[in-house]
Amino acid sequence: MSRMKWVAVPLVAAGLVTTFAACGDSGSTASTAASAADTTAAAVENGETETTDAKESVKWSYSDATGPESWASLSPEFAACDATSQSPIDIVDPASATSPEPTINYSKGAVEQFNNGHSVEAAAAEGNSITVDGTTSALLQMHFHAKSEHTINGEHSPVEVHFVHKSAAGAFTVIGVMIKQGPAANAAWTPFVKAIGTPEGTTAKTTFDWPAMLPASLKSVRYSGSFTNPPCTEGVNWLVMDAPVTLSKAQIDSITAVYDHNYRPVQPQNGREVVVTPVTN
Ligand SMILES: [Zn+2]
Repeated sequence: MSRMKWVAVPLVAAGLVTTFAACGDSGSTASTAASAADTTAAAVENGETETTDAKESVKWSYSDATGPESWASLSPEFAACDATSQSPIDIVDPASATSPEPTINYSKGAVEQFNNGHSVEAAAAEGNSITVDGTTSALLQMHFHAKSEHTINGEHSPVEVHFVHKSAAGAFTVIGVMIKQGPAANAAWTPFVKAIGTPEGTTAKTTFDWPAMLPASLKSVRYSGSFTNPPCTEGVNWLVMDAPVTLSKAQIDSITAVYDHNYRPVQPQNGREVVVTPVTN
């Protein structure tokens, strides 16, 4: 087969979504990993703003008067939540639109895990990164949403996890991975699950085998979106993995026992163009 070229396709017309989905979490990073600026940005996205930044004391949630429908009106700083390139989105037929795989430069390492009031976040130590289209971005943190934020052909997964990265130039790239129920426990996810109940205000120190937590196949769809919670900043590069990771029912139950409704509904695509690169080999 001849080499395929990148082709810009209107999402609506093509019915394809490449995901470069950024979720709303930049998250704080472990002390060894993050600069002060990174920590602040991450905290904002993860909703830690109440405790980390006096200027960001506006409370938001996933329901009722401070829920997703009201985020943009809660604060001028959340105005982007009503903008036109928001995340998450519904992804249609991802298998037909796989993008080049990212290069994963993860290794086993120290993690600081904590409950930020909206999710449980695992901050990575320095030294983990991904390379996408020649740009390398440092892994800041991973956190979860339940149910999934992105939907595949209109269907939610029980949980979606977001691996949040930031480049030296300040651009965010988020890898979204669906978590589905499988027959056995997933050992790579055991440390996260074991520390999932760490109370707010305390931090659990653990170790992740980061590369083992990703799906075996790294095929994904990409799109340009936003953080999925206030301030809903756009310009986030999303990669939503085609393959899920499977955890046991007990592992999933442990996660959703902490939060089971911390997802933003899918947002309008608004004719956003996506870049689709068929698999060529
Ligand atoms: Zn997220």
